[in-house]
Amino acid sequence: MTIISRRAVLGGLAAAPLVAPSILSAQQLFAVNPFRLGIASGDPSPDGFVIWTRLCPEPLDPQGGMPMMPVEVDWAVGTDEELRTVVQKGKVLARPELAHAVHVEVAGLEPDRPYWYRFTIGREKTVIGRARTAPCPGSPLTALRFAAAGCQAYDDGLYTAYRHLADEELHFVFHYGDYIYENRGAPIRITREGQALPFVRRAIGGPCFSLDDYRRRYAQGKMDEDLQRAHAAHSWFVTMDDHEVENNWVSDLSEFDVPAELFRTRRAMAWQAWYEHMPVRRTSLPTATGVQIYRRARFGDLLDAHFLDTRQYRSDQPCGDGFEPDCGDIDKPGAQVLGPQQERWLAAGLHDQTARWNLIAQQVMVMRLDRRTRPDEAKPIANMDSWAGYLAPRERFLQALKDAGNAVVVTGDEHQSFAGELETRDGTPAAVEFVATSISSGGSGADLRPEAARIRANNPFLRYSNDRRGYLLCEVARDLWRSHVRTIDTVDRPDGRIATAATLAVEHGRPRLQL
Ligand code: FE
Ligand code: CA
Repeated sequence: MTIISRRAVLGGLAAAPLVAPSILSAQQLFAVNPFRLGIASGDPSPDGFVIWTRLCPEPLDPQGGMPMMPVEVDWAVGTDEELRTVVQKGKVLARPELAHAVHVEVAGLEPDRPYWYRFTIGREKTVIGRARTAPCPGSPLTALRFAAAGCQAYDDGLYTAYRHLADEELHFVFHYGDYIYENRGAPIRITREGQALPFVRRAIGGPCFSLDDYRRRYAQGKMDEDLQRAHAAHSWFVTMDDHEVENNWVSDLSEFDVPAELFRTRRAMAWQAWYEHMPVRRTSLPTATGVQIYRRARFGDLLDAHFLDTRQYRSDQPCGDGFEPDCGDIDKPGAQVLGPQQERWLAAGLHDQTARWNLIAQQVMVMRLDRRTRPDEAKPIANMDSWAGYLAPRERFLQALKDAGNAVVVTGDEHQSFAGELETRDGTPAAVEFVATSISSGGSGADLRPEAARIRANNPFLRYSNDRRGYLLCEVARDLWRSHVRTIDTVDRPDGRIATAATLAVEHGRPRLQL
């Protein structure tokens, strides 16, 4: 039965091979270019990186317009932007089990330099992308630039910020999650206050539950040219926050009252779709027990980067989640954010430090922000989905950062830019935290939200805020870390202009923010 259907797909060839011959792939299988989701590179090491693409001629079709059989794809890596000098090439099978996505882990390259890559199948080619290997751990490095980006609700606004990010000169991009929003696609959009919002563009389909739903949400987003350009220009370290699975999920707990064993099936599908569309290593392929998100990368003797996972091992949000006053549960001693294993892994990484700076690249805000916006609110209000809802693990985390003496925290999730100072319980400075804004989530925004003055007055450790969309650009030097808040004036129209709203700095060894 299987053989017959396979022959039918291949047009009745006598001896149907298990893999479609390339000539067939090129000339008959693809009426349109199958590389419509673009390409990507990620997880750079000193000797290589991952290169990614997905065969998907019909991105919104449940099977991507592909026959349900493995198809061979050619790849090449070279040392010049036109790929005249190819240094490595090979073939990789795009399998239906992974929606015909391919992840090639290229190794054996030289450290700290750009490479260019391309995928081809028959006559069809991708654009040529640029990837960059990391400098060898411990090797002398005087400066490094990276960007932090994420939170890209498709229907909230255009990805124009990514077009500008593509033009930056960077070693890497850190993505802090919310690459998709599972809860979009409603026929109308309403704000929390009940006002109707116009669509900038519409996410297709309703909330994501099935693997097909998640795949389609990624596929639609990945057709965006600005996003494709940013992937093709830089190597990314991708993590995950809540909306890759479900708003405010942690561990195997849904935001709603869903039995854990049922939520785990949805989570597994969400993780699979995430893996299929991200340029991550095979070690991040989801298994029955979880998905490896947290990992480390070292950049010369200048920067050790620790990419965290603040969802998978976290205990339930206290006080019913949301923005709430403390119900008495925010300092439960047994609460977890990173979980014991990741916490030990981070402590060991900070202890063995070889570099001048430690980047803690993670998802939810560490600053314990009092969120009161109105004078009639008597008790301080915390975001229970941030570190502010987990004071015991937060204090351990801050102690570890303080002991390291050279850590900088870069965070996402808030959909606005914040910067401020983190202190341990005894008032000792531990680290500076930069919260990057969103690419599109929340819409165009303004320089400040109406409640910004009250928030600042209630939170003296918070030194900066801005409510425009964009990304954070970090320039790391031996003695000074500078973070540029890169903002865009509109995400409603395609001509948004980029600007540097502020440059904020930290001196090495002195965890205070300089404005
Ligand atoms: Fe978000
Ligand atoms: Ca989030």
